[in-house]
Amino acid sequence: MDATELTRPETRLTSYRNLIGGRSVDAQDGRKLDVLCPSDGIAFGSIPRSGAAEIDLAVRAARTAFETVWCRFTATERGRLLMKLGDAILAHKDELGALESMDTGKPASQGLGDIVATARYFEFYGSAADKLHGETIPFLNGYTVAVVRDPHGVTGHIVPWNYPSQIFGRSVGASLACGNTCVVKPAEDAGLTLLRIAELALEVGIPEGVLNVVFGLGAEAGAALTAHPDVDFVSFTGSPEVGTLVQKAAAENRIGCTLELGGKSPQLVFADADLDAALPVLVKAIVQNGGQTCSAGSRVLVERPIFDKVAEALAERFAATTAGPHEQDRDLGAMVTARQQARVKAFLAEARAAGVPVLAEGKIAEDAPSGGFYVKPTLFCPVPREARIACEEIFGPVLAVMPFEDEADGVALANATDYGLVAGIWTENSNRSMRVARAMRCGQVFINGFGAAGGIELPFGGVKKSGHGREKGFEALYEFSASKTIVHHHK
Ligand code: NAD
Repeated sequence: MDATELTRPETRLTSYRNLIGGRSVDAQDGRKLDVLCPSDGIAFGSIPRSGAAEIDLAVRAARTAFETVWCRFTATERGRLLMKLGDAILAHKDELGALESMDTGKPASQGLGDIVATARYFEFYGSAADKLHGETIPFLNGYTVAVVRDPHGVTGHIVPWNYPSQIFGRSVGASLACGNTCVVKPAEDAGLTLLRIAELALEVGIPEGVLNVVFGLGAEAGAALTAHPDVDFVSFTGSPEVGTLVQKAAAENRIGCTLELGGKSPQLVFADADLDAALPVLVKAIVQNGGQTCSAGSRVLVERPIFDKVAEALAERFAATTAGPHEQDRDLGAMVTARQQARVKAFLAEARAAGVPVLAEGKIAEDAPSGGFYVKPTLFCPVPREARIACEEIFGPVLAVMPFEDEADGVALANATDYGLVAGIWTENSNRSMRVARAMRCGQVFINGFGAAGGIELPFGGVKKSGHGREKGFEALYEFSASKTIVHHHK
């Protein structure tokens, strides 16, 4: 396909607007930000550059909806609406998938897959809404104690650009199911599908003001949302630096927050591993989404006896990967922005300059538009344990491969980062797999696999510097609600 002939949906130069209290509105001062397609670097639309004023309007709309409308819905009624929204997302999956891919640069099939997973979040949380039971507690004679779950009120959601629709679905789905109302600040670099889904929410009958979307820069709209005194809880996924700011703002307001701040996730490959099963997964875990995945498998740790064999096989597979425009549906697309591309390239240049060996590189499609933000998947091997690319999150298609000597050494190496999000273990020895899984200091462990097709039903989140709190699965419902203990003293 000729790059100049790439077809794009009819969204070129569309003005996207905020959705506040059910109304489509621009920023009050009319300021806008361009939205670029990462595949070619060309602007195809604009979003409002909102600030504190628009955030304040949205929080007020959410507060009013919480206190006057949404509180009247039973949990079952809320759940039905969320399931209807899931159905509506599925009915529009082609349109939404194309938009997700054009906005983020991710391959078409992946954009579509993200939308299907997002629909499943609303289905899951819709069906869970009336199953968040409280409990009764035996107490003194003459007392009945009930512990019920209450919504927080207005929840703020700061969403990143790497999986906009899925991260929106997981936190907004759980929050609405609990009875909260939401103000969402999408990433300025990619977040258009959030607006379309919020519009669909109105269409299926979710009342005005229950779900508000305000576009803008992180330091302006994002900071205003986290600092707003009438927000009751904040969900944040993104960089550790901004996560720290979000937690400080939450502390100022004395409210809770969930922070999901990425990782440097290891996969341990033991000498008895089924390599036919492991190899494609090891490559996909870092190449998919251009490595711009918080749970990317960015470190592969290989037991010494099979180290050379695994390194060679990984190199062959890495060399066969291709980055291309989203429509071409290659192994990976472009990086989301020129800034992200420059960040990944800086890591590559530094590692090369430090003499870390490059074992293989993938390709950039020859007909990829020259203005796109592409980088070649790069395999470094063997990587010294103290190298920056072995310790820091790159958020690019860059794999660090390292040997380990025995189980104790592998466990120590796997845990030797500040992060603790996800780990993978490849072995046919089930005693060892469970022993090692228990020794991993992280929030999620995969045995003989990695990643779980969205993993909607599975609690997800970090320990150590990867953040705190759990989203996904039923556990998220506990984050987005608070217990209230009712003590009834009866004679
Ligand atoms: P970022 O943390 O700046 O952006 C994430 C979200 O936070 C965006 O919606 C942004 O607008 C918002 N934000 C930015 N500054 C804010 C502030 N002061 N107050 C409130 N909200 C604010 O991330 P980035 O700069 O786009 O990416 C930098 C690095 O962060 C990446 O290279 C990657 O390592 C990491 N990252 C991780 C994830 C993840 O899923 N864990 C997602 C995106 C980025």
